[in-house]
Amino acid sequence: MKVPDIIIAVDGYSSTGKSTFAKLVAKEFAFLYLDSGAMYRGVTLFAMEKGFIADGKIDEPALKAALPELELHFQHGEAGTFLWWADRCIEKKIRTMEVSGWVSPISAIGFVRSWVDERLHAFSEGGRVIMDGRDIGTTVFPNAELKIFVTADPKVRAQRRYDELVAKGTPSTLEEVAKNLSERDYIDSHREVSPLRQPADAYVLDNSDMTLHEETVWLRGLIQGKFGILE
Ligand code: C5P
Repeated sequence: MKVPDIIIAVDGYSSTGKSTFAKLVAKEFAFLYLDSGAMYRGVTLFAMEKGFIADGKIDEPALKAALPELELHFQHGEAGTFLWWADRCIEKKIRTMEVSGWVSPISAIGFVRSWVDERLHAFSEGGRVIMDGRDIGTTVFPNAELKIFVTADPKVRAQRRYDELVAKGTPSTLEEVAKNLSERDYIDSHREVSPLRQPADAYVLDNSDMTLHEETVWLRGLIQGKFGILE
C-alpha cells in the first residue's frame, strides 16, 4: 500500500502502546518515527544530573539558564531509534522509574515545552513523519493529516509497562508502575500548557484487547478509506 507523504500524530495516555504502534507503522510504511516523550525524558535526566532537582523541587531558573547547552538528538538505525545527549546514548537511562517520576512535572513547564517543540519541528523538516506524545495533534502538528488517539484499560497499561520494565531488568513493582501511570495521566491532562486532550479530529484506537497486528490492520483500513487508496 502506498501511503502519501503525510504527518501522523499519535497521542494518548501513558503506556497505551503508542510508541510500539508508531514504530511498527513507521517500519511498514517507511516513515520517520519520532518519540516526543523521549525528549521530555532527556530534559528530565539533564535536570537530575545537573542537580536542578533537589529536595523534591525543580530549580526552574537554573534549568532555564542551562537548557541552551543541552544537545539532544535521535539516532535511527536497524536496531531502532535511540536518544543521545551529545555523544552519550541515554535511551536506557531515560526509561528508569526515577526519570518517570519527574518527567510530568518537568514537561508541565512552559519553557521546556517550547524548547522541545522547536526541536521536534526541526527533526520533522523532511516530512513523512509519525510522532507520538500527548499534544502532537493539538499543539505540535495541529494540521497533521492523520491524528490517532490511543487509549487502553489502566490495568492493561500497568501490566504492559511492568512487563516491559522487567524485560529490561529495571526493578519496580506493579503497584509502583500503576501509581506512576495514574499520576502522570493526571498531571499531563491537568497542566496549563498543552494539556493531554483528544483532538476533535482524531480517530480513537482502544487497544485493550487488540494485538499489534490487529492495530495495523485497523490503521491500514483507516488510511485506505481516508486517502482513497484502493490496495
Ligand atoms: O511517552 P512517554 O510516556 O515516554 O512520555 C513521558 C512523559 O513526557 C509523559 O508522561 C508526559 O509528561 C511527557 N510528554 C508530554 N508531551 C508529549 C510527550 C510526552 O508532556 N508530547
